Amino acid sequence: MSKMPVNLCITLALVLTLIFLQNLLLAADTQQHPKPFIVTSVSPITNIVRNIGGTHIHVIGIVPDGTDSHTFEPIPSDIKTLQAADMIIVNGLDLELPTLKLAEKVKKTKTTILQLGNRTLKEEDWQYDFSFPREHGHPNPHLWLNIELVMRYVEIIKENLSTLDPANKESYQKNAATLLAKLQKLDQAIFGCVGTIPINNRKLVTYHQ
Ligand SMILES: [Zn+2]
Repeated sequence: MSKMPVNLCITLALVLTLIFLQNLLLAADTQQHPKPFIVTSVSPITNIVRNIGGTHIHVIGIVPDGTDSHTFEPIPSDIKTLQAADMIIVNGLDLELPTLKLAEKVKKTKTTILQLGNRTLKEEDWQYDFSFPREHGHPNPHLWLNIELVMRYVEIIKENLSTLDPANKESYQKNAATLLAKLQKLDQAIFGCVGTIPINNRKLVTYHQ
């Protein structure tokens, strides 16, 4: 019968003890510095925030996928979610008015509400059209379909997450840079693709949402 050398046994025991201690320390650290809890609204915004925050933040988007964001009304359980938020990030430009109203009422005093669209476009640049007539007073809020404007959303989210959680600033900047590079590539690909279509045939048929 082979016996494990004593030295090896001691080393193994030491390694296991170290792993155990490290886990304890990690657990204590997570308790002392819980991840920032970010509450978002619609899935395009949730997606951008997740890409930038990565594993350093906890994100919940309260408008369920497949729901019409224009008519969405928050449900009672959303109150708890909004109350717990360390930052609330919405598209703005009047897209999520019932959610915004509730958030302002129930949020923690120090929690900021970021309205990305309102920080991206000045009021004189707001767009009105058939679906969003000027006389109704609500601009077209769909800025996330324009890559240049999405890139501004990325910058705003990166800056605000870095201020909220400076310990992970480097990570937010790195993730944002990666996302911006992807968006740049996508923008070029779309331009390249459209360029192959004769100008007179450039008609887009789309379903809103
Ligand atoms: Zn829409």
